[in-house]
Amino acid sequence: MDCIFCKIANGDIPSTTIYEDSDFRVITDINPVNLGHCLILPKTHAGNIYELNEELTGKAFTLAKKIAAAVQKATGCSGVNILQNNGEAAGQTVFHFHIHIIPRFKDDDMVLSFGSFKTDSESIAAMGKKITEVLHL
Ligand SMILES: [Zn+2]
Repeated sequence: MDCIFCKIANGDIPSTTIYEDSDFRVITDINPVNLGHCLILPKTHAGNIYELNEELTGKAFTLAKKIAAAVQKATGCSGVNILQNNGEAAGQTVFHFHIHIIPRFKDDDMVLSFGSFKTDSESIAAMGKKITEVLHL
């Protein structure tokens, strides 16, 4: 399989590695949205969160918390976004599961937009009920 994140995670392509263990490599993003933007990459291929096994999913987010704390200390940022995109519509551009750790500063140029979707309370409740119906824990 020709997956660039598999090659980076397994060391076949050099990267600025800030952390590594048997399951993950954490690198600095080569096109950072802010200085200190990091990526958490599992060493085994999973196209998205649905393909990543439960154990690695848990470990990935535990690691995200640790990396976020380190990014905050190192950059002196006032906030951190932890982003994980699944599917092209969600902004995923490399189809190997990864978590973005993005330091945020007051008045930086990065824009995350929430809350612009127009709907009504009945539709919100109905969708919530539908999600509960299909949820398999
Ligand atoms: Zn891969």
